[in-house]
Amino acid sequence: MGNIKSKIWQRTPGGSEDAEIDPVEKKKKDRKSIECEVFGFGDEAAESAAAWKDCRKNPDHVTFIPAPEFGLEHLPPDYREVPVLDFITAVSALTVRLRVDVVSHKRPKGYAFAENRGSRVPHVGSGLVRRASVGQGPCPCRTCSGTQNSSPSSSPKWFEISVGSACHVLYNSEEALATRVDFFYDHEHSRKDGQLKSAKGFQVTEKDRKSDVCFFTCITHDEGLFTRLQSLLDRFESCRKNLPKELPSESLMMVVSHPHGQPKKITVGELVKHKVIWAEPRALALTWTLLYRADTCAGSSGAPVFEISSKTRYGRNGYVYSVGTFHSGWESKGNHSVRIHSSYSWESIF
Ligand SMILES: [Zn+2]
Ligand SMILES: [Zn+2]
Repeated sequence: MGNIKSKIWQRTPGGSEDAEIDPVEKKKKDRKSIECEVFGFGDEAAESAAAWKDCRKNPDHVTFIPAPEFGLEHLPPDYREVPVLDFITAVSALTVRLRVDVVSHKRPKGYAFAENRGSRVPHVGSGLVRRASVGQGPCPCRTCSGTQNSSPSSSPKWFEISVGSACHVLYNSEEALATRVDFFYDHEHSRKDGQLKSAKGFQVTEKDRKSDVCFFTCITHDEGLFTRLQSLLDRFESCRKNLPKELPSESLMMVVSHPHGQPKKITVGELVKHKVIWAEPRALALTWTLLYRADTCAGSSGAPVFEISSKTRYGRNGYVYSVGTFHSGWESKGNHSVRIHSSYSWESIF
């Protein structure tokens, strides 16, 4: 899809040496083990539908449950409890789709999409809303800051939404400015019926390449969007606290994502293992890689991943355990996310 239009690579930097290679195919090849979906320049919905249909990793996608249909019957029997379902639904409501339209020149050599630095071929991934707040002072968005004589009194009300994703999906503020975030994309008709809301990315506020995590802000003037996200964030916190204390010790892994840029899907599966690596230098930080069987596809990168169990782990005693991180990619043993134990307090992030 979109091959004819995609042949505008002559306009992109470095185009001459890649004159024979379709830039969309070039970027797709550059994905390796990461799970971003790459689009051309055609109709987005059609490209997404084609990618879903042509998927080779999970051709039938039977384990990907449309978010609005996810129910108790999709949970393993030992987890089939309303508070567990409520928690998953609360995570799902805050899950977003990211469309990143540029690859920054600042991506380091050897890093994800580094061979496509400067490319304007879009990629999509997933993310999770972490915070929403009322903006202070003059609105920094492009429209408002471009207005002459802007002063705090003349500035319209604005809101800042913080979103977390994988660092390899959105690398820096240059990429944030070229990112569109889609909220509440639950159905194919969500855009038409006005349920889907979008906001432009603004700037990266925190990132860590080793943990493959990045937090960035979006600016919006949509008070309705802000109010709704605020109440969903409150619901997320209360659902998390309400998780039952007596759950099995085997972890249940759940991922909410936009595979191939499609409407939100939920997958669940078991934890394969925690892989522990002492990070360089000086073994100060402990990197935990979680390998899991919850299915993921291209487009799932950056998706919220939660491990739910009552197991005693990391010095916690018999407490219900619900730690979140972001989906990072796949390897032969399973899909995985990464986090650095000592650098971040993940509980405070989610
Ligand atoms: Zn797929
Ligand atoms: Zn503004």
